[in-house]
Amino acid sequence: MFKKILIANRGEIACRIIRTAQRMGIVTVAVHSDADADALHVRLADESVRIGPAASAESYLKIDAIIEACRRSGADAVHPGYGFLSEKAGFAEALAAAGITFIGPLPAAIAAMGDKIESKKLAHEAGVSTVPGHLGIIADAEAAVGIARDIGYPVMIKASAGGGGKGMRIARDDGETREGFRAAQSEARSSFADDRIFLEKYIEEPRHIEIQVLGDAHGTVIHLGERECSIQRRHQKVVEEAPSPFLDAATREAMGAQAVALAKAVNYRSAGTVEFIADRNRNFYFLEMNTRLQVEHPVTECVTGLDLVELMIRVAAGEKLTLRQADVRLDGWAVETRIYAEDPVRGFLPSTGRLIRYREPAGQGVRVDSGVFEGAEIAIYYDPMIAKLVTSAKTRDAAIDLMRTALDEFVIRGVAHNIPFLAAVLATPRFRSGALSTNFIAEEFPAGFTGSQLAEDAVAPATAVAAAVRRILGEREASISGQLPGHGAVVGTDWVVCHGSERHAVKIIPAGDGYEVTLATGSHCVTLDWQPGDLACRARVDGRAMVFQIDRDGSGFRLIHGGVTVALQVVPPHVAALLDLMPVKAPPDLSRFLLSPMPGLLVALAVTEGQEVRQGEALATIEAMKMENVLRAERDGTVAAIRAKIGDSLAVDATILEFAVAEPA
Ligand code: ADP
Ligand code: ADP
Ligand code: MG
Repeated sequence: MFKKILIANRGEIACRIIRTAQRMGIVTVAVHSDADADALHVRLADESVRIGPAASAESYLKIDAIIEACRRSGADAVHPGYGFLSEKAGFAEALAAAGITFIGPLPAAIAAMGDKIESKKLAHEAGVSTVPGHLGIIADAEAAVGIARDIGYPVMIKASAGGGGKGMRIARDDGETREGFRAAQSEARSSFADDRIFLEKYIEEPRHIEIQVLGDAHGTVIHLGERECSIQRRHQKVVEEAPSPFLDAATREAMGAQAVALAKAVNYRSAGTVEFIADRNRNFYFLEMNTRLQVEHPVTECVTGLDLVELMIRVAAGEKLTLRQADVRLDGWAVETRIYAEDPVRGFLPSTGRLIRYREPAGQGVRVDSGVFEGAEIAIYYDPMIAKLVTSAKTRDAAIDLMRTALDEFVIRGVAHNIPFLAAVLATPRFRSGALSTNFIAEEFPAGFTGSQLAEDAVAPATAVAAAVRRILGEREASISGQLPGHGAVVGTDWVVCHGSERHAVKIIPAGDGYEVTLATGSHCVTLDWQPGDLACRARVDGRAMVFQIDRDGSGFRLIHGGVTVALQVVPPHVAALLDLMPVKAPPDLSRFLLSPMPGLLVALAVTEGQEVRQGEALATIEAMKMENVLRAERDGTVAAIRAKIGDSLAVDATILEFAVAEPA
């Protein structure tokens, strides 16, 4: 067994690998860029080596720097994690040349599967069903139109070197094919320095289902069942689960057998994933093979009880797999959500900043894989994933319920995050029913994500909990000021919960170990596990367990539940009467300004002063977190003034341009 492993990665996956290696008694070495000098993976590892400046191209993607770090630390093996160098055959080769073991497949298997056209040919030869299409390189847009007609619309235009959902377009007619071909080609050229494009049939109502495979150096290959990853945004996975609610035993077995056949065809040794797309009739077709540990591997670990990183390390060290296909049992259900630093109501724009508050949920069936801590900085240089939240239980319903509660408990302040969106996805009846497809998000949120309302059955509990929280605060104030609990105005029984212009009269009296709270709509029995200062409040309302986050905000507080934030004030009736007399401050109208939604670099301006623009027209492009974000006009108007210039480094909410005041019609 290896004595020392270097982890050529950062963030949650580096932390996750370090934990398993340490449990196995192996010394761990972290590598880090300047931006990550104080990162969690560096803190967790036994040793660490600086490999370069913040930019990935000068650090985590630098093969020489990593091999040098192995030499200096004396590491005898390297785990690449996912992303970065994990699927670069040249990295595995360079390590081999330096006498260091790559914890992954052989370079030839990486190379064979790294190219979508080549891997499809190989899959076809191995008897794996592939998406009908054209496995040749397409010369130009006109040739693409001819091939698309032969395949039959709709078609998928793809970059052979593609990955991470980039360089992919759906085309439903000749015009879209021409346009999509050119767009995919230029995206592929700039992202992968390889503009080979091919076409295949677009599978309607597609479900993404993938098989986890595992091989050793002695010719054994088994599979560990499937994961369904159909909840995707821009072809990128957001929610994953194992098993798939769609597969029956026969389809699972057929898919597993094909995945194993493909892995054997490339002499696969290590953990890998064979991705399939399934249509509504459970026909399935090979998409690609990822020759590495997958982001969503924890759901498989939860239902199989295996540690995939440990198995990868063992087979890399030459051990024989002792596990047989028949030993693999799928037990229970697991769901994973990817928590990103991005603002779902602002078109999912990435967000940066310091995690001023950060508390992970915990408990039976809850697993959090993260690479951050309270006080850590989410920087612009890397992937904006903060954590992966995984819940598992006996049944799918129970795993979903646990996920919703865990999302309620997850406290993140300081950066925008996608928990409100994830909570909304998990709350849909369609997700619950398991009727998934990769169009799920587009169909369930046709206007994008605009935020949610508190679920109807959560309104009365939220009001009652707010009253109970106010009551506890009142009791605390009374005991500090020397009053007896139950006396004086602050611990009165009559309160008014103010939510915007709504007023809800509430009567609250201590009862048992909690309170009886009477609203206009009925009485509720509330017990709270909460003290002033706690961020999360576990409540029981009429026997129902619910979690609320509570942020104090001046005289009021914000209650967060189900991804929804509700600002409330709970005041005595005479104060409520005063509030009603106060003029309501209208928020300033900022709709005339195009503000930068995030810190970033202004790289393009698509309009000039005096120009009329239509809703949806591109106005400006901001680069942040290695992504170009196009800002579009929210409605028709005329550009009155431009307030920033190309090359400006913009702060969040900096004014980019100003529209003319609309003239009354
Ligand atoms: P998974 O199925 O494990 O999510 P993805 O293909 O989405 O696989 O990629 C996993 C990680 O690797 C992502 O975090 C992504 O940032 C990174 N990645 C994959 N392919 C590319 C690529 N071509 N360019 C940049 N990053 C990539
Ligand atoms: P990447 O390397 O970017 O992960 P994939 O080939 O795995 O590329 O495709 C990513 C996603 O795009 C799939 O999960 C699926 O949602 C969608 N997709 C890819 N090919 C097709 C197709 N032929 N028909 C329908 N959807 C597809
Ligand atoms: Mg893929």
